Amino acid sequence: MSKARITVAKGDGIGPEIMDATLRIMEAAGADLDYDFIDIGEKVYLSGNTAGITTESWDILRRNKVFLKAPITTPQGGGYKSLNVTIRKSLGLFANIRPCKSLSPFIESKHPEMDVVIVRENEEDLYAGIEHRQTTDVFQCLKLITIPGTQKIIRYAFEYARNNGRKKVTCMVKDNIMKLTDGLFSSVFKEMALEYPEIESELKIIDIGAALLADQPEQFDVIVTLNLYGDIISDIAAQITGSVGLGGSSNIGKGFAMFEAVHGSAPDISGKNMANPSGLISAAVLMLQHLGQLDAAMNIANAWYKTIEDGIHTGDIYRSHSKQKVGTREFADAVIARLGQRPAEISPLKLNKDDFRPIIIPEYDRPKHAKVLVGADLFIDNSHLTPVQLGAILETHAGDHLKLKMITNRGVKVYPDGLPETFCTDHWRCRFVNKHNPKDVNSMKAVEKETIPQLMMALLNEGIDVVKTENLYYFNDKLAFSLGQGE
Ligand code: NAD
Repeated sequence: MSKARITVAKGDGIGPEIMDATLRIMEAAGADLDYDFIDIGEKVYLSGNTAGITTESWDILRRNKVFLKAPITTPQGGGYKSLNVTIRKSLGLFANIRPCKSLSPFIESKHPEMDVVIVRENEEDLYAGIEHRQTTDVFQCLKLITIPGTQKIIRYAFEYARNNGRKKVTCMVKDNIMKLTDGLFSSVFKEMALEYPEIESELKIIDIGAALLADQPEQFDVIVTLNLYGDIISDIAAQITGSVGLGGSSNIGKGFAMFEAVHGSAPDISGKNMANPSGLISAAVLMLQHLGQLDAAMNIANAWYKTIEDGIHTGDIYRSHSKQKVGTREFADAVIARLGQRPAEISPLKLNKDDFRPIIIPEYDRPKHAKVLVGADLFIDNSHLTPVQLGAILETHAGDHLKLKMITNRGVKVYPDGLPETFCTDHWRCRFVNKHNPKDVNSMKAVEKETIPQLMMALLNEGIDVVKTENLYYFNDKLAFSLGQGE
């Protein structure tokens, strides 16, 4: 085992208190570490740096490759970007891992058997933050799901399960509605599950999946899901173990990893020696595992379990089973005093070097696909024409090669043959395809690329406001766009 040099940020609010407690415990447990401290967060934002981090700090982070981070405060308003999202995306930290285990009866939880690990995709989905307002009525946010991003996170979930002796991986998606994006996630999951026959795999729709997680978390083991769903269900899972103050998480990328508590900077209790340092202590245990310092990781985890078992609790988890209410510093002292001890009832953390293989994610090999343009959706800002009037104008200008196939409003077909009951906004999706298509959508004919801008020019001259276009493709002879509701 060699000494590791890591970057540490003490963060904002309760950050410095829980970081000091964690560093003291790591030192007492014999963790073999050197530290570089960087300032991030509120102080940096308020100095006029809207990114919340300086170039020098980026250099230190990139050099050390392992980052222990306390929570930071994002000032509200102003053009401040979330530094957490920036760090995750800039350093390619594609996997967010949150173990959520009940320590009942020592920490009250309605779910004593719960022991779930959430593997959340960390870079894609609606968190790309690509948003536009297109008309008076309509705002949009692009949901981007990629094949390499999906392959990486699902591979990671199965490899994590294999490395950690986990028996089942559940994938949560909404592929009954988002057939292309969430459909990609579920199809990669089904395909990759075949490579791990010893691990049970199951697919759940996120709505019932989240409900079951909140009600019967003991039926889940590892859950892999997309960014937004993962964000939501991992907070639910952390909270139902007893307190959001308990959870630690790792953010893993290729050659870089960041470890942090699940909770925020808790300004309401900052500077009062009240914060529970357990979330950051758990993150430090995950970090030491990652660095291969397994003895220090086990030593800290087991002393921490023993402290919890002995009823020495901070205010947020102080309940009927608790024996002594302590502050942040005293909690750290109690953990340090128990280093070398093991819990009597909570199962201790046992790590074996031989159980750990590094998780290697294969490089993405982009397949070759035959891509054929078969039409385009033109999005039009219109607040005065009815669907029938708009349809008539568009049909007139469709030209010799294209025809208007349908108009939808918020995804529902309103032309031809719309229903008068359908509520319409000022944002119309107008689908144009080859004039000579057969009825069957699975055998559409190709269209020439230049016909689309020609159509846009014709509509522009007619005073029609085209706010965006989306090309319609077949990939390898397969439809690669969704049909309109009612198409
Ligand atoms: P929060 O997690 O800071 O606090 C929510 C509640 O939980 C508060 O009542 C707080 O006192 C309590 N709490 C949180 N951690 C605790 C602990 N360790 N011990 C005891 N009680 C604890 O969430 P918030 O109030 O929504 O956010 C505060 C700030 O933190 C915001 O600026 C937000 O942007 C930021 N934040 C940062 C991160 C991060 O850096 N990873 C994550 C979430 C929120």
